[in-house]
Amino acid sequence: MKQILILGGGTGGTLVANRLRRLLSPGEAEVTVVDQDDQHVYQPGLLFVPFGRADPDEITRPRHRQLRAGIGFRRAGIERVDLGSATVVLDDGAALGYDVLVVATGARLIPEETEGLDAGGWPDRVHTFYTPAGAVSLRDALAGFEGGRIAVNVVDMPIKCPVAPLEFCFLADWYFHERKIRDRVELTYVTPLDSAFTKPVASRTLGGLLADKGVGLVTEFNTGSVDTAGRPGRLVSWDGREVPFDLAVVIPLHGGAEYVTRSPGLGDELGFITVDPHTLQSAAAPNVFAIGDATGVPASKAGSVTHFEGEVLVENVVRFLGGRPLDASFDGHANCFIETGFGKALLIDFNYDTEPVTGHYPGAVGLPLLKQSRLNHLGKLMFQSFYWHGLLPGRDIPGIGSAMPERGKRGLAATRAHTTTTTTTAAGGNGAS
Ligand SMILES: Cc1cc2nc3c(=O)[nH]c(=O)nc-3n(C[C@H](O)[C@H](O)[C@H](O)COP(=O)(O)OP(=O)(O)OC[C@H]3O[C@@H](n4cnc5c(N)ncnc54)[C@H](O)[C@@H]3O)c2cc1C
Repeated sequence: MKQILILGGGTGGTLVANRLRRLLSPGEAEVTVVDQDDQHVYQPGLLFVPFGRADPDEITRPRHRQLRAGIGFRRAGIERVDLGSATVVLDDGAALGYDVLVVATGARLIPEETEGLDAGGWPDRVHTFYTPAGAVSLRDALAGFEGGRIAVNVVDMPIKCPVAPLEFCFLADWYFHERKIRDRVELTYVTPLDSAFTKPVASRTLGGLLADKGVGLVTEFNTGSVDTAGRPGRLVSWDGREVPFDLAVVIPLHGGAEYVTRSPGLGDELGFITVDPHTLQSAAAPNVFAIGDATGVPASKAGSVTHFEGEVLVENVVRFLGGRPLDASFDGHANCFIETGFGKALLIDFNYDTEPVTGHYPGAVGLPLLKQSRLNHLGKLMFQSFYWHGLLPGRDIPGIGSAMPERGKRGLAATRAHTTTTTTTAAGGNGAS
């Protein structure tokens, strides 16, 4: 019997395990998931916590309960992977062998890489909403905020859900309007990019929205340190520029899981796994695959990408075990609802070769693309239920496959020439799009 070992029981690990368990009989393969804890957080819900619109308890479920019967769950930290002996060593000393390994350990926040931030605790007036504890602490800080300067800062790319910090700005604008103190709050978005977002067409729309809502935009700001010694605090860039703040919302540097850097040959210098961007097979060993935020593919680090990757990856694990050629059909498909405040949201849909354009998704009739609408906001809210009951169990969605649909989109050809150039550049990086 074959041993399939899945490292990480988050979005990707869970959906891959469930799909594989359905496809392969218990006599064909044993499927085991390893994770360091048993708390599965619906991460898109973290965006709403600071504004009192969600609570960590409502967006967290036991990890092992999301796995189908017949899947083993091992709760332990991962120490290292030994590609030579096809073995994974856990922090309880156990060693697990595998025929196929799926790396799904996501991305890790590394605040300690930035001067002034510390892994042990966030300094006074500096917060993040990228963890449940951070989102709660930010909620309390916002509730007590009566006016002043708020800087929302992305330290460096790649980050999980690159639109989430923009959504935070839009929701903060709405939140302070609701509290009737918007005129007393100066909001500034501080990004290392040269515009509001990585993709030019979406960037124009999102940059326009920031301007409409009176949110300042500081670009090409590579944060060197976060200085909280005085009042106001200061974000200081490597080239000496400063952004003052009374409250900072920081999205820290991301990297792959730490054990990757302790596993020779497995990942790159940031701990992301180098895989073929179309088959998701690792460059390091043919029996290793990776999915989701853990990979270095030039796609967004998003749950939607992880979902679409899952279909191709599972097919390839089955083909690999059967000695058949792999399916190279993953196209970098990503889509994302972007909450814009006041009960509206945008939707973007794109892939490696095509940047977000206007039109509708998933066909000529459907949700409006790159346009604020109430329907998109309802879609964003309903997505949580789909996450627990459709995406994680690995169910197929009628009419929506892993490949990006072209029906209903306007002006695709014009954006392709441009995106091909940027994707080629990004491929050397780590999925910064
Ligand atoms: C604030 C926020 C908002 C977001 N909004 C959206 C959105 O609107 N739309 C969208 O598509 N995506 C969104 N995302 C991104 C989305 O949540 C992730 O892209 C997705 O969860 C990635 O899945 P994954 O399986 O790769 O990683 P994860 O789901 O993070 O799972 C990784 C797992 O690996 C485990 N692990 C890591 N290291 C170890 C170790 N050493 N030993 C044992 N276990 C380990 C972790 O415990 C975790 O369970 C958002 C993320 C954040 C933070």
